[in-house]
Amino acid sequence: MSRIVYVNGEYLPEEDAKISIFDRGFLMADGVYEVTSVLDGKLVDFEGHAVRLERSLTELDMAAPATKDELLAIHRELVERNGIVEGMIYLQVTRGAPGDRDFAFPDPEETPSTLVLFTQNKPGLADNPAAKKGIKVISIEDIRWGRRDIKTVQLLYPSMGKMMAKKAGADDAWLVEDGFVTEGTSNNAYIVKGRKIITRALSSDILHGITRAAVLRFAKEAQMEVEERNFTIEEAQDADEAFITSASTFVMPVVEIDGAQIGTGTPGEVAPRLREIYLEESLKAAV
Ligand code: PMP
Repeated sequence: MSRIVYVNGEYLPEEDAKISIFDRGFLMADGVYEVTSVLDGKLVDFEGHAVRLERSLTELDMAAPATKDELLAIHRELVERNGIVEGMIYLQVTRGAPGDRDFAFPDPEETPSTLVLFTQNKPGLADNPAAKKGIKVISIEDIRWGRRDIKTVQLLYPSMGKMMAKKAGADDAWLVEDGFVTEGTSNNAYIVKGRKIITRALSSDILHGITRAAVLRFAKEAQMEVEERNFTIEEAQDADEAFITSASTFVMPVVEIDGAQIGTGTPGEVAPRLREIYLEESLKAAV
C-alpha cells in the first residue's frame, strides 16, 4: 500500500506527489529538514524539532511555510492516515522553485518555499536489537561546511561516511576535526568515564541534537555528572563506555571505535540506562 504524503498543502499518494525540477532543494541543496520519531502513535519532542526548524529557517533567511500549530496538525494527520505506531516523520522545507536556475535567492514574495512531509513506518523502532549489542564506528575526517548547527539537506558527506563505515565492516562513522570528535554522521557522540558523561559543547561545529538536549537533561535529573568538552578518538577508545543519540536511534551504545573495543566490548551500564529513561520519559511527554 502506498503512503500518503504531504506536498505544499495537499495530501497525496506518494506516486502522485511531484516537485519542480527547478526546486532549489534539488538544484542547490537549499533546504532544511527535521526528523521526528513516533512512538505509540505519538510525536516525540515535536516542540524541540519545531523550534530547531524555525532557527534553521531564520539562519538561512528562508520563509516559514507554515506555523508551528499547522505543522503539528500535518504531522498528526500523516500519522493517522498512514497508521504509524512506531516510525518517523520526515519534514523538508526548501527555498522553492523560482522557475530557472540562479545562485541569488529568489524573492520570497514571488517564490514560496516548498514543504514536503512523509512518514517512515518502523515497527520495533524502540526495540532495536542493535541497542542490546551496541554498534561499531570508524573515525573519518570532518570535511563538512562550517554551519553544522543548521540542519540542511547537504548530506552527501554524511552518506559517504556511512558508506566508508559499511566498507570497513562498521555501522557508522565519527567525524574528527583538529584532532577532536565533532559528532557522528547523523548523531551526537558521547563517552563515559567513571560514570561521567562527556560530549562536545554546542557550537556551529555540531548539530544541536534534540535528543542530546533531552538526554543531558534526564542525565542531570538522575544525578549523573555531565561534562561538555572536546574529546579525542584515543580518549574515547580508552573510555568505559561510548554512545550516540539521535531522534531515530534514541540512545545507542557504541562498543568499538576504529577496531578498538570500548570497555568490555558490551553496552555497559550508563548508555542502556539513559536509553531506558529517554524512552520512558519521551513516551510520557509525546503528543
Ligand atoms: N548530528 C547530526 C549531524 C545529525 O544529522 C543528527 C540527526 N539528524 C544529530 C546530530 C542528532 O540530532 P537529533 O537528536 O535532533 O536527531
